[in-house]
Amino acid sequence: MKYKGSCHCGKIQFEVEAPENIEAESCNCSVCSKSGFLHLILPLANFKLLTGSEWITTYSFNTHLAKHTFCKVCGVKPFYTPRSNPDGIDININCLDTKPKSITVNTFDGQNWEQNAHKLANKSKQ
Ligand SMILES: [Zn+2]
Repeated sequence: MKYKGSCHCGKIQFEVEAPENIEAESCNCSVCSKSGFLHLILPLANFKLLTGSEWITTYSFNTHLAKHTFCKVCGVKPFYTPRSNPDGIDININCLDTKPKSITVNTFDGQNWEQNAHKLANKSKQ
């Protein structure tokens, strides 16, 4: 089904195609735990930015492979490019305006990323 999502101030609006029943990852790494990001990793083809490209800015750290994109105005991070699937997109389920039928939350041990990253591999593939 199609979901609409946005940042807090609404400058950034997007649409994603995802299942009705969503499987999410809750990650305990330094950046996800502080930003409260609830992950839904999808193929990039399932994502469409509707408005707000001019309001997006990028933060990166450590390996700089993940691109932590967020809104310049409200600071909310509705989606980003994840290190585990750099050819895909990672949506913050907390930023979806369309509510999924159900959300199953799995924990992901991002504090030990190297040992666990394989569990997320291929999520960006159709
Ligand atoms: Zn915003």
